[in-house]
Formats: sequence, C-alpha cells, structure tokens
Amino acid sequence: MTRWYIALCFLAALALSAAAERSRDSFVFEPETVARSFRPFHDDVNVRWDERHFYVESDGMPGHTMMVGIRAWNRQVPVPQPYRGDNAFRFPLRPSFADKPVSGRETLFRGAIAIAGNGVPIFNPIKQDGRTDTYLAGELDEYGGHAGRADDYHYHVAPVHLEERIGRGLPLAWALDGFPIMGYREPDSSEARGLDWLNGHIHDGAAYHYHATRDYPRLNGGFRGEVELRDGQVAVQPRARGVRPFTRPLRGATVTGFARHGDASYYLEFQWRGEEHSVDYTLQPGGGARFVFTDGSGTRRVEDYTARRSVRGGGNPRQRRDRRVDQGQRERRPRTR
Ligand SMILES: [Zn+2]
Ligand SMILES: [Zn+2]
Repeated sequence: MTRWYIALCFLAALALSAAAERSRDSFVFEPETVARSFRPFHDDVNVRWDERHFYVESDGMPGHTMMVGIRAWNRQVPVPQPYRGDNAFRFPLRPSFADKPVSGRETLFRGAIAIAGNGVPIFNPIKQDGRTDTYLAGELDEYGGHAGRADDYHYHVAPVHLEERIGRGLPLAWALDGFPIMGYREPDSSEARGLDWLNGHIHDGAAYHYHATRDYPRLNGGFRGEVELRDGQVAVQPRARGVRPFTRPLRGATVTGFARHGDASYYLEFQWRGEEHSVDYTLQPGGGARFVFTDGSGTRRVEDYTARRSVRGGGNPRQRRDRRVDQGQRERRPRTR
C-alpha cells in the first residue's frame, strides 16, 4: 500500500513538472504588438488576426529597388503576387518550443520561413538545392533579395535595412513559427549575445526571439518553435504566381538597373559579355505579361505569356512544364543609346 502511494506521488510530481516546463516554453504575443512591425508599410501591407494566428497580406513587392547587384542571375524578374485572403502569410500568436527544433541546414529549402515587416517573404539562406548559400553565391541584390522561380521576390537574409522604418528594438520580421526576428542589436543598442544555433535566445524577461547576424544563418537558422512541415516546407504557405517558365541562370550577367513605370511596367538592365541588355515587361490585366528583351546590338525579342497556374511556396522547381510561350517574335530595332 505504502509502495503504491509513493509511486502515485512520484507520478503526480512528474506530471506537475512537465506542466511547468510546458508553460515556460510557451509564449503569447499580443496582436497589437505584432502589428507594429508592419505599421510603417500599411499602404501596401494589410494585417489581421484571430484567436490563434496573425495574418499578413501583401503583393510581395518592396518599395525599394530590386535585383540590382545580382551577379548570379536566374533570369527571373519580380512580379506582384496574390498574397491575400486565404492566400496570406500566417504565423501563430501563441508559439511554443518544439520538442525537436528544425534545422535550416537539413530542410526548409523551399517556401518562406519568415515574413518581413514590408510584406516580403523571407526564405532560408540556403536555396532549393540544399547546399548553395545564396548570399555567398552572389544571387542576392543589395537588399538581400531576388526573384524566385515563380517570379516571386523574396529575401534570403534578415531585412536589416527595415530597421530605419520600423524603429530600433522592434522586430523586423516574424518567423513562421511565431517568434520575432530582431536586427543585429538589442533594444538598448548592445550587440546580441549568447545566441543558440538557431540565432535565438531569451534574456531580460523578453520572450524568445531570433536575431539577424552577418554570418550564416543571418536570420533564424530553422525553427525553435513548433511548425507543421509538409514536403520540406512550412505546411501553410501562400501560393506564388509566376508569368513565365522558370529560366536558366545566365552565367556572367550582372543586374545593373531596375525601374518601374506605373503599376504594371518594369525595366531591368543587365551587363553580359561587356554589353548592356535589358528586359521590359508589362503585366496585362487577367494575369498575362509581355516581355521585350533587347540585346547588346539593339535586337528586340518580344514574348507574350498567358496567366499562369499558381505555385505553393514560390520557387517551386516542379512547375516548369506547364508554362508555355504563346508567341515569340523577333524584330530589329535601331539602337537608341
Ligand atoms: Zn530565392
Ligand atoms: Zn536578443
């Protein structure tokens, strides 16, 4: 009888300590607080929430210049994306630590892992092949972003340039496990110290958070919080919609200029083999697009595309075959400059 009683007490104590552990590893973020990261961009980024999740809606296009500085270009270009309604980004407002954190060195090579304050998705620093560090490979522009295989612009590093707009001490982005991503420094301007292998830590009574770092992983190196994964990416991902088949890298090309004209026309300039080339593209109502390529000798090539099927998580290499060129035409045009 006594032995049973002792065993019972032991089990009760075990259950209690497990419950305490649980509450120490669970966090609650107030939606109004979370919304502060997105507020400076409210013209372009819409936020909402329910009991469990925070939602971010945007077209994924930042206000800054894109693509300039890319030395290893895949020939994709940024186009606005339909990250709205039930295709919005979302993350939990009550994150809790996973029993087994997920490492970005082993998985998460596709799809977003975080969402920046300006509504631009953030991907793992390592791309789809599971080994290439996009930053070191010269694939990123001066803001740490580029267009993926669904013409979806995204960052691969923490968007530290947003600190100026959002304000020091506020998260620049939110990881899809529900934890905030801060800049290089703490709110009191001291350098972040004692980061774990995921770039996160807890200090001074603050909830767990990740930090940007100058070296890999540069942002959350995976997920300390619970996330549902499917096919190696976060299960609930917005769909990206590209306008062209995904294109092969153009070796030796450097993107040197980018401009937008109105809401639907864009211009990208690049150097290749010592000559200046450009791509003008205009998005048509209904989802199609016209691309005009001008090469170093002034030769123009026009390609028209119809609306494309969307791709979950963007950057998905398996959508290639059903993209098609409807019409290709070549014409000569005298060089204008
Ligand atoms: Zn990418
Ligand atoms: Zn910190």
